[in-house]
Amino acid sequence: MLVRHAFKFRLYPTGEQCQQLAVQFGHARHVYNWCLARRQAYYADTGSTLSYFDLKRAVTALKFDPDYLWLKEADSQVLQAKVEDLARAYKGFFERGTGFPTWKRKKDRQSVRYPQRVRFKDRRIYLPKVGWVRAIFHRELIGIPKSVTVSKTASGAYYASVQCEREMEPPVHTGPAVGVDVGLKDLAVLSTGERIPHPRHLRRAEKRLARLQRALLRKVKGSKNRDKARHLVARQHEHVANARRDTLHKLSHRLTRDFGTIRMENLNIRGMLKNHTLAKGIADSGWGMFVGFCQYKAQWRGGVVAQIDRFYPSTKTCHVCGHKHNTLTLKDREWTCAECGTLHDRDVNAARVILAAPTGTPRTPTQRELPPERRNVKPVERLSDAKASGRSAGLAEAGSPQASSRG
Ligand SMILES: [Zn+2]
Repeated sequence: MLVRHAFKFRLYPTGEQCQQLAVQFGHARHVYNWCLARRQAYYADTGSTLSYFDLKRAVTALKFDPDYLWLKEADSQVLQAKVEDLARAYKGFFERGTGFPTWKRKKDRQSVRYPQRVRFKDRRIYLPKVGWVRAIFHRELIGIPKSVTVSKTASGAYYASVQCEREMEPPVHTGPAVGVDVGLKDLAVLSTGERIPHPRHLRRAEKRLARLQRALLRKVKGSKNRDKARHLVARQHEHVANARRDTLHKLSHRLTRDFGTIRMENLNIRGMLKNHTLAKGIADSGWGMFVGFCQYKAQWRGGVVAQIDRFYPSTKTCHVCGHKHNTLTLKDREWTCAECGTLHDRDVNAARVILAAPTGTPRTPTQRELPPERRNVKPVERLSDAKASGRSAGLAEAGSPQASSRG
């Protein structure tokens, strides 16, 4: 099986290389926004959509436009990659319910992708139009490098993420199954009875972030001090995000190593983020990221991640006899089953119920579960209707995301 693996390294470009990178980021951003504007305008005028290939051709032509000759300062493949990114953003919007593509802004994280022509040598990485940039290779690459994404964070740190591919025998994991209850109080509780608390260093870093954010609010707009404060906030933000990602990588590594099957709830993260009392804790623990990490790491090791239906009453059900304790509240950390008399720890019991629960069948989300921009978008015509009227040929296409796309 073909396995993809990304390796991220810190880069230390010189002042001159930073300027060259700024040119690459800026031009690529311009092309992305130009394509987005063009696609939207085209849709507004004609009601149909510009494909990836239309835009790709348009960008190539743009470079010969006398007003856009400066685009030649950028690596051509970096610009093409941005057209691809936009196509992917639209695809995500129509197929996976991610938000509508947004404009790229200078103050956000910047990135460009090089599909080819990147070379590596001892402590240096070669980027077209930029040159040999100093890098810290803290680990060895496994597989064949396929593309390299260079990014600059809001606090001004540079990274290269190298996507590698390798062919591998499908592994078989013979480890046992585990139920995982992800939560706010503890990061996770396992059906084995183990609790994994939120790491303390993360809590400390978050407190410092909150303090820096308050300090930023007190600074006068447009002042030097405000710029300094904003830089400190951005750096601390990244520190917290890195610490969180590190924790989740370590936990997912351990779980996928020790267990062949990992069962957890299929959580409606977007829905929960709307509930503001829960929102902070959920965003903090990075549940979505955690599930993703577990899934790809399990795949490397031959394990599986099974998600149970989120409407399954895991907390209220006794894992011994199946009795449902319907009056259980959020405050009850422990409860005794009225049927069999077992004393339950709330979270450990939930993890054990999750371990034994049936795996949820994927179902069509209801209108309320969809993000607002995807609600009430009418399918062009149902396939069964098409067959009944004997006009099936053209209609399969009409119902595809490409044709029904707006923008
Ligand atoms: Zn019971």
